[in-house]
Amino acid sequence: MSGEHRPTAQPVRFGGSRTPDGYLFELTGGHLCLDLANTLDERQAAEPRELLTDFRDLLDWGVQSGTIDAGQGRVLRALAAAHPRRAEQALRNARAVRESIYAVFSSVATRVPVPAAALSDLNGAFRQAVRHRSLASRDGAFAWTWVAGARASLDQPLWPAVWAAGELLVSGDLARVKQCEGAGCGWLFLDTSRNGSRRWCDMSVCGNRAKARRHYARSRDNGDRRKQDRPARF
Ligand SMILES: [Zn+2]
Repeated sequence: MSGEHRPTAQPVRFGGSRTPDGYLFELTGGHLCLDLANTLDERQAAEPRELLTDFRDLLDWGVQSGTIDAGQGRVLRALAAAHPRRAEQALRNARAVRESIYAVFSSVATRVPVPAAALSDLNGAFRQAVRHRSLASRDGAFAWTWVAGARASLDQPLWPAVWAAGELLVSGDLARVKQCEGAGCGWLFLDTSRNGSRRWCDMSVCGNRAKARRHYARSRDNGDRRKQDRPARF
């Protein structure tokens, strides 16, 4: 087997890497709530990889995905440093909300009934988030905003993602939610291709690994067949 197609032992997701400045998230879900769901890597592998290892990861995800801006990120980072236990609680909450979102959309994507507990938990998160939804007037027009109130909330990076989950659930795009077919992956994405043919979270990661596996299986099968064929030919 040539080294060229060998699946790497440690797949590196394009854009997904830990840097000295924090984690660089791969945002390929095509929808905010699916990108949050994908903050657990190798979901269906024996040992999924947690990407929200620390509250700062949640802030980095928020800034990179646009649920908070850089200034809000700095305010929340200082707040978390001053209240480490609250930050720990907010991180646990973020992971729980993420898992509710994943359970709901993964069920939709794989055409199985949505677990009632997951929808109930998502509704709980939705009610929390909605309390901070507000209308603002800007330049003669109106816009939705998020208002943290007098006391900044460490849950703020989640609110737009939870709202987005609700919007996606009631939209016609729900039928486009798919689960990556990559072995062990399980990431979710919105398939916006015209013919609905997208199969991978990222062609450069899961697509290539599947191609490598097919290549390996083919060369192995061919090798086996040659061995089996040989006695018959002689
Ligand atoms: Zn994948």
